[in-house]
Amino acid sequence: MDSYQHILLAVDYSEQGDVVAGKAQELAKKYQAKLSIIHVLDNISMPDTTYGTVIPLDQDSGYGLLETEKNRLMQVGDQLGVAQANRWLIWGSPKQEIVPLAEQQQVDLIVIGSHGRHGLALLLGSTANSVLHHARCDVMAVRLLNA
Ligand code: AMP
Repeated sequence: MDSYQHILLAVDYSEQGDVVAGKAQELAKKYQAKLSIIHVLDNISMPDTTYGTVIPLDQDSGYGLLETEKNRLMQVGDQLGVAQANRWLIWGSPKQEIVPLAEQQQVDLIVIGSHGRHGLALLLGSTANSVLHHARCDVMAVRLLNA
């Protein structure tokens, strides 16, 4: 493939996340592609919400932790110049939510870190491994050193 039209960056706020984000931004610029971002909420419990629920970013949930998460994603989106409609906050497991969203949004390249918050001792982190195995589009696993 010589051109990408829609790139999805998987954001986990890990230390080297900026390196991964920089690569996604660079590729989006190079190919003049749409850039979307996703963060999967796997670290806060939301008893009334089923896995895979998209959390609306423009409505106040009245739930403090969720507002913090929304603001975090909004900040990354602002920094990268990602349109509001292309920022995705989804409740669930990153291994299960990134690929379906990519398919639904007709993404043709997913950009992830080789490692994030999990799996520093592995060749590839568990999210990266799962996305690489299941995605039907291209996946760029940005190699993060010191991992
Ligand atoms: P891991 O395989 O979990 O060590 O993480 C590898 C990469 O997967 C990270 O650098 C992120 O790009 C992505 N990732 C991990 N967790 C999440 C998450 N909760 N939401 C979105 N992307 C994630």
